[in-house]
Amino acid sequence: MRLLKPDICVIGAGSAGLSVAAGAAQLGAATVLIEAGAMGGDCLNYGCVPSKALLAAAKAAMQHRHAAGFGVEYAPPRIDLARVRAHIKETIAAIAPHDSVERFEGLGVTVLRSWARFVDDRTVEAGDARIRARRFVLATGSSAFVPPIAGIDQVPHLTNEMVFEHVAEIRDLIVLGGGPIGVELAQGFARLGAKVQLVEMARLLPRDDAQAVELVRASLQRDGIALHEGAAATEAQRAGDRIRLAIRGAKGEVRWLEGGHLLVAVGRKPRVENLGLEQGGIAATSKGIQVDGGLRTTNRRVYAIGDCNGGPAFTHVAGHQAGLVIRSALFRLPVSFDARALPWVTYSDPELAQIGVTEEAARRDHGDVVVTHQPVAGNDRAHTDRHEAGFLKIVSNRRGRVLGVTIVGVQAGELLAPWCLAMARGLKLSAVAGPMLPYPTLSEMGKRAAGQFYAGRLFSPATRKLVRVLRWFG
Ligand SMILES: Cc1cc2nc3c(=O)[nH]c(=O)nc-3n(C[C@H](O)[C@H](O)[C@H](O)COP(=O)(O)OP(=O)(O)OC[C@H]3O[C@@H](n4cnc5c(N)ncnc54)[C@H](O)[C@@H]3O)c2cc1C
Repeated sequence: MRLLKPDICVIGAGSAGLSVAAGAAQLGAATVLIEAGAMGGDCLNYGCVPSKALLAAAKAAMQHRHAAGFGVEYAPPRIDLARVRAHIKETIAAIAPHDSVERFEGLGVTVLRSWARFVDDRTVEAGDARIRARRFVLATGSSAFVPPIAGIDQVPHLTNEMVFEHVAEIRDLIVLGGGPIGVELAQGFARLGAKVQLVEMARLLPRDDAQAVELVRASLQRDGIALHEGAAATEAQRAGDRIRLAIRGAKGEVRWLEGGHLLVAVGRKPRVENLGLEQGGIAATSKGIQVDGGLRTTNRRVYAIGDCNGGPAFTHVAGHQAGLVIRSALFRLPVSFDARALPWVTYSDPELAQIGVTEEAARRDHGDVVVTHQPVAGNDRAHTDRHEAGFLKIVSNRRGRVLGVTIVGVQAGELLAPWCLAMARGLKLSAVAGPMLPYPTLSEMGKRAAGQFYAGRLFSPATRKLVRVLRWFG
């Protein structure tokens, strides 16, 4: 067995692990990267990329509906699902070189294609190699959580890992789970012509602003999706080549749904098994690998970042935490992961983007807050483009410090960027209200909402009096 002694050893080549390995190697650190599955992890192969490629196809399938309002008529679309599947594969293939073994070896990283496990608190084994690194980074990600519903193990069901392989066959889908993944895929498949039923135990998108979710809900219903909110799946059965799913509503009533495919999207389960965590002196539960504020595990040599530590499961969180680990491991700087300025977007139509706290959470936890609401319909560009649905809502304290922003509507995810900057830098609303923006753009909506915060003070009797006095001076 060969022995490697790098500065840093990264386990998992998904969003988190790749970012650490690329950064560390470019800073001159001897780096080993170990990956047993597909390079790029979930995001590239079974997550963000294929799901957004599917949604792009679904959006194209809707163009005729939107164009009619401009007086442009298209024939209703004929959808070739095999071609949609090919488009998803092509998208992954176009991005894959960026995450490939070749690219990382080109950066000077030693890439091992094998399963890795700790054999003691300083050593990892992977294939024919033993690695004794100065620092280790666990970036092993997560997999779909399949809830213990009676009969589920006897019924063929899809998770994010297989669903994109089956795109060309899905005509009649039951989606279990109304979080971002369930909502996006339900709408994507519905718009590509499938009959879709969605089951959610709580309400749709339970972490998001209820008023914004209402617009997403209405849109899903317009797409013909049968929504079963407040309904828990209790039993799954096979019925020939079809699937039956029992759901129990709030009053205890049970109904059976039937579909051709079942997609389970009820949440994520951090990957903590078969890693030799005990031998490595690394504490973990089924909720994830335990880390402190600086992302270190109970073994001080080992960090755990991305989905595997049970924190917010997003690619941008994985990337951000990778940057913190580089600062801590290579520059010995103190770091701390702060989730207060965490953004997230559900790429439904309308898109729903959030950063910081929602209005509901702010009223509960902060009490004295100011809420500024700007309808998308108040924006000129929204009218020219016939995308008037939605709103932007800012939650701030009385001094104009931003606590959270909700945007629902077209391009909400893109419109969130200035608010990410404002929250990360602790800026006041005046910083967003001040700059000149090009007209007509959707971005003006944010500037206008921020300006609205000051409107009460600006157009007050006191300011009017000041203007009168200054006029008197000539
Ligand atoms: C359908 C779907 C859509 C999504 N859309 C978005 C989105 O739009 N935006 C967003 O921000 N996030 C999105 N996410 C979440 C995002 O994909 C994850 O947060 C992100 O991929 C986590 O990255 P990671 O590096 O922590 O883990 P992963 O990407 O899961 O990578 C972990 C890697 O570690 C490897 N590994 C595990 N154990 C070992 C071992 N012992 N030895 C060797 N290798 C090992 C695995 O094979 C895997 O490749 C989506 C997720 C899904 C499922």
